[in-house]
Amino acid sequence: MRLVDSFGRVATDLRISVTDKCNFRCRYCMPPEGLPWLAKDELLTFEEIVRLGSILVANGIQSFKLTGGEPLVRKDLALLVAGLRNVAPDADISLTTNGFLLADRARELRMAGLDRATVSCDSLLRHRFAEITLRDALDEVMRGLEAAAAEGLGPIKINTVVMRGVNDDEVVSFAELARTADYDIRFIEYMPLDAQDEWKADLVVPGAEILDEIGRHYPIRAISAEPGPAVTYGFVDGAPGKIGVISSVTAPFCETCDRLRLTSDGHLRACLFALDEVDLKGPLRAGATDEELAEIARACVAKKWAGHHIGRPDFVKPSRSMSMIGG
Ligand code: SAM
Ligand code: SF4
Repeated sequence: MRLVDSFGRVATDLRISVTDKCNFRCRYCMPPEGLPWLAKDELLTFEEIVRLGSILVANGIQSFKLTGGEPLVRKDLALLVAGLRNVAPDADISLTTNGFLLADRARELRMAGLDRATVSCDSLLRHRFAEITLRDALDEVMRGLEAAAAEGLGPIKINTVVMRGVNDDEVVSFAELARTADYDIRFIEYMPLDAQDEWKADLVVPGAEILDEIGRHYPIRAISAEPGPAVTYGFVDGAPGKIGVISSVTAPFCETCDRLRLTSDGHLRACLFALDEVDLKGPLRAGATDEELAEIARACVAKKWAGHHIGRPDFVKPSRSMSMIGG
């Protein structure tokens, strides 16, 4: 069975938000005071996530990305990794984290079956990092990054949201970090998914501009157009490390999107920007069979729209922001 939409796109990548809570307050994501968090019984349990994961694997899902909120604020995340690994021995299982709690957890996560880690980091300057995230935590994040690499959770990706006038002067510094440590830096365009509604088009730095800027300092060339949003670039001089841009705003990749999202309260979303989502938790807790849950998921994907409308007059921001959906 496959999860296929009316445009022929097949969902193979499931992004699982394990919590809406976070220990950072990134300015492009959530307000300083945080958000009204979900009550504990609204969150899917690990057993429920594993059951849904198993059903979705039987319907063509090949990779899981654990995200949030901050997934590592959920204690015992390694138990979830082990549960997913048990029902999906061949799946690619990765984690997107702000890195703050990663240094102490990298080993148990790897031993539970985690394949890879992506660490978000928007500045290599301590004070700026603190201004962006409202946490003075650059050292902890760098330690997390290094621990993940040392544990073999590579290739380590670094997600960097670039904002005009905030951190766009650091793209070359991030490229230099990639060159010295073999990291895969993913520059992400700022998307209108912040809870505070402060997004403005002129804060977006186009991915093409970022690549030009890096290329002026260190010539790069495309080395793969792997499935997914980011074409990967390597350094012409053979230095380690890679560069990619996620140009969701200026060059959307909707035509080739293979993603599906499970929110921490058990709703399935066919698109990050979808205006509707379907409830899996209610039927699951009411005793639905695997086949009934699979049918709900297939119907959700079947209705997936052609793509988002950012930048068009008819764009409507989803009612849930990034940390509630799972980035
Ligand atoms: N807390 C984890 C982290 O920050 O890596 C995982 C969840 S976070 C929502 C996932 C990714 O979404 C992060 O790389 C973050 O930088 C990115 N993100 C959050 N809000 C964004 C926005 N408005 N535009 C673009 N990317 C955003
Ligand atoms: Fe937390 Fe990640 Fe959002 Fe930053 S981007 S506030 S780390 S969920």
